[in-house]
Amino acid sequence: MKSNIVTAMLFNSRVRVSVMNTTEVVKEAQKIHGTCHTATAALGRAITAGVMLGDSLKEKDYKCSLILNGGGPVGRIIVDSNNAVHVRADIDHPVVNLPLRADGKLDVGGAVGVNGYLRIIKDIGLKEPYIGTVDLVSGEIGEDLTSYFFYSEQIPSAVAVGVLVNPQNEVLASGGFLAQLLPDHKEEHIEFLEGIIGTFGKGISHMLFDTPDTEELLSRLLKDAEYHINSKKEIEYRCNCSRQKLTAAIISMGRQEIASLIEEGGAELTCHFCNSKYYFSKEDLEQILQDAIGRGNPDGKEE
Ligand code: ZN
Repeated sequence: MKSNIVTAMLFNSRVRVSVMNTTEVVKEAQKIHGTCHTATAALGRAITAGVMLGDSLKEKDYKCSLILNGGGPVGRIIVDSNNAVHVRADIDHPVVNLPLRADGKLDVGGAVGVNGYLRIIKDIGLKEPYIGTVDLVSGEIGEDLTSYFFYSEQIPSAVAVGVLVNPQNEVLASGGFLAQLLPDHKEEHIEFLEGIIGTFGKGISHMLFDTPDTEELLSRLLKDAEYHINSKKEIEYRCNCSRQKLTAAIISMGRQEIASLIEEGGAELTCHFCNSKYYFSKEDLEQILQDAIGRGNPDGKEE
């Protein structure tokens, strides 16, 4: 089953609930980055959080980035997403495998760390991007995103993200649940959501393992409540890197750096998000230098 997110509205649009299954995209991310156990869970939860944020953007061309930096062993995690829920991610240190917590869960908080921040950057068609930053609560990502929604967007939310990884480091299930209280919500709506969250038991990843179909899980969670499905989107791991963008990155290195790459006889650049490799020969680099920087002045002296 392809990864997807389904979003429903309840109580005359006073409550919004989403359920997402990100198993396949997290498997793909794991393959690209070579993450093991705890790092897989951290990356998978961050990707799921990125999916929630991307899905909630209002217009088609809007996009966002999530940056998680808690000072823990996995280092920094970045997730780019957009309204069409195309995601891509990067993690500094993919080989992190911490002992399980006392409750048997993967120690994502320990891997991410708590001495840092969660930052969300949204490009919503304005001159400047919107940037919201909160201090990490636990590094477990769900709580941290809840804190972001509350303090940066003033939306009371319940967030659950989870990744089920077996001892062989296989992703068995990954996904999340997001409930948000919208304007004019009532006390009874809060109680309703608390009731749902009370049924989570071992967590959202176990629920998705048992019920991978998001619409089916949504209907089980919402029980008798009346709702209508607002949207259902397929989630894809998709990188938008290109030779042109990598060329721009080379130009930004400056002429001295390019000259030293030419001396080395060429350069191979790897995209951090998808592992695509781009090879620039000595001649390519000389051309870049000539076209964009020094006008045929590879030794870096001003003409
Ligand atoms: Zn790429």
